[in-house]
Amino acid sequence: MSEILSFTLNDLTGYLNQNFGKGEFHAKCIYRYFFKTGKKDIENLDCFKNQELAFKFKKSLRFPTPVILEKKESEDVIKFALELDDKAVIESVILKMKTRDTLCISSQVGCKMNCGFCATAKMGFKRNLYPHEIILQLYTAKFVLGYDIRNIVFMGMGEPLDNYENVRQAVLILNEQHGFDIAFRHITISSSGLCDQIERLGKDTCIKANLSVSINSADNDLRKKIMPVTKRFDLFTLKNTLLNYPLKEKGIIFITYTLFKGLNDSREDALKLVRFLENIPCRVNIIPYNEVEGCDFKGCTDKDIADFSSLLESFGLFVRKRWTKGKNLDAGCGQLAGKIRGGLSD
Ligand code: SF4
Repeated sequence: MSEILSFTLNDLTGYLNQNFGKGEFHAKCIYRYFFKTGKKDIENLDCFKNQELAFKFKKSLRFPTPVILEKKESEDVIKFALELDDKAVIESVILKMKTRDTLCISSQVGCKMNCGFCATAKMGFKRNLYPHEIILQLYTAKFVLGYDIRNIVFMGMGEPLDNYENVRQAVLILNEQHGFDIAFRHITISSSGLCDQIERLGKDTCIKANLSVSINSADNDLRKKIMPVTKRFDLFTLKNTLLNYPLKEKGIIFITYTLFKGLNDSREDALKLVRFLENIPCRVNIIPYNEVEGCDFKGCTDKDIADFSSLLESFGLFVRKRWTKGKNLDAGCGQLAGKIRGGLSD
């Protein structure tokens, strides 16, 4: 049975055509109704003069029934965990913003990248999420929990570019103008630095979402320890990849640098980062580390963040600082997922 959440309008049109001999008129009518309202009673739509056909069609598709295992809410942040068909659990975070709410979504169950500071890494890799499971997180946030989500960041569990095809399809569904209609500039894909996939994203003419790369150290040896992906793609390769990324067509490159106390927060570390970012048009997000149980990495203070950021700014870098209290949207992938688990088990 096909999942309606895995369809763009084109996909639904093809499906209707192949299975029911109907075309774009019916597809648009169903797509708009379901994806704009979240309602499933498509048999009552005016476009279906023949209700029998509508029921047949409805029966042939699977409509979402999210199972929310846990939900936790603070003033600005809502964290929820969904149980999937195979009992796998994924986590998502809604950040309530002034102008638009943001949803941080997961792309995998677990992760292969094994970053030393990350809660998701601790659970190992279980599997990739299918497009409908990625979209289910938005469906839940919007239509079950009732938030006006207009911004999506792939910074939950998993390395999105390690699940390229499914994330790509999910991004197309998010962007579908007859459905969720989220502009590419409001979608950010965060990567640990999988250069071959970043290159692939750069060449992908259909996907114009923002790219965010977690750097966390501009010292190759240290980064190898923090982020083992560096053994596969060293900083030299990563820099070349970012230099060649087609920025104009693909929005903005965000560089995320999580500050760990006593590890990557020195003046020398800042200078190395400045050198690394030379000629890369980007915005730098300096964020505090949310300590994770079982990881030795230590969080820093707001003063550490201010000092480190000032140094970068003195070299002309555009820096956004995140503080240890309040919203921490610009975490690298996995960081928010770790927070959810911590939060949910409170
Ligand atoms: S930080 Fe991101 S890429 Fe690294 S292990 Fe965690 S989820 Fe994976």
